[in-house]
This record gives sequence, C-alpha cells and structure tokens, in this order.
Amino acid sequence: MKVLLSREELAAGVCRLAAEVRRDHGAEPLTLLGVLTGSIVLVADLLRQLEGPVEVGMVWASSYRGTATRPGSLELRLDLLPDLTGRRVLLIDDIFDTGRTLSALVDALKERGVASVQTLVLLRKPARTEVAMRPDYVGFDIPDAFVVGYGLDYDGVWRNLPEICTLEPSDLSTTLGTTPGTTLG
Ligand code: 5GP
Ligand code: MG
Repeated sequence: MKVLLSREELAAGVCRLAAEVRRDHGAEPLTLLGVLTGSIVLVADLLRQLEGPVEVGMVWASSYRGTATRPGSLELRLDLLPDLTGRRVLLIDDIFDTGRTLSALVDALKERGVASVQTLVLLRKPARTEVAMRPDYVGFDIPDAFVVGYGLDYDGVWRNLPEICTLEPSDLSTTLGTTPGTTLG
C-alpha cells in the first residue's frame, strides 16, 4: 500500500473546502447530505470546520463492486432523507469517479423541492468522468488508481486508515477474508 495523501494534506484539504463553501454561502443555513458509506469520515471532519447553522442527513448509494475495482449497477436509497423543502443542500461523497452516483442523486434531490443542490467531493479522478455534471467543490484530483482509507473501502475493509492510499496488486489478496461480492458504498 502506498500513501497518496497524508493526514496533514487531508486536513488542509478539508479546511480549504469548508472555507470555499462558507465563502459562497455566507452564514446561510446548509443541509449536508452524506452519501453512505464512504463519506462518513469526510462529513465528520467537514462538519466541524463549517461555522454557522448546519443540518446533517444521509443517503445511501452503492455501485456493486465487491472485490472488483470497477463499477457495476447503481443502487440508491433515499428513505433516510430529512425534509428538504426550501433547503440549500450540499451533497457530499468520498470520490467522483465516473460521476454516475452523484449525477443520479442530484436529479433525485431536485424533485424534492430543494432551494439548491451543490456537490462536494474529497477526491476526483478526472480521467474517468462519464457524465456532464461536475462537482462544485473538489478536494483533490488524483490519478486513475483504486484508493482506500479515510472512509473508502476495498471489499468492506480499510475505511479506518487515516490516509488515502493506493492499493498494490499484492494488497488485493490480504483483505480480512470477507465474502467476495460485498456491496461497496
Ligand atoms: P461513481 O458513481 O462516481 O463512478 O462512483 C462513486 C462511488 O464509487 C464512490 O462513492 C465510491 O464508493 C466508489 N469508488 C469509486 N472509485 C473508488 C476508489 O478508487 N476506491 C474506492 N474505495 N471506492 C471507489
Ligand atoms: Mg460511495
């Protein structure tokens, strides 16, 4: 495993993202919507850097990958959503890969009477984008490599690494022995 972004780089990136969001929204109330499961660490850190009134909710999305590192079909679950009528929503995900997850979620949220929807991601792989939409806030552009840590998993593990790391082929055989086909979020 190789460290791509250190704890210090990640902390500085999150501070910068919070400052950009407040620069654009002033002291207006914001509703942060984290995409489960990969965004949990980012949401927790960003939340504590954002001053002013902030609500938090979660949605669940999954590209079925398991031990594969390429996306499969997309599944969304919106039943955990708070009432979004008139809210300024900031949808937060760990990574913008093909962009299909966030693009589908933005379309779904626009049908719920929101005042506005913006998107924020920690990471983006510019070489892989397959949709017209672009995230409003991006922490770091990274190369097209499969990454884990800071909330991102491989087959259910490694979300707890404090850094963002790239996987080497030898790492793929050293997971916790989870069942192949676990759903990635
Ligand atoms: P997209 O719909 O943009 O192709 O994929 C977004 C989702 O795929 C992310 O929320 C994340 O769960 C997963 N994903 C994409 N690239 C990676 C990666 O390099 N590492 C991990 N662990 N998950 C990824
Ligand atoms: Mg995800």
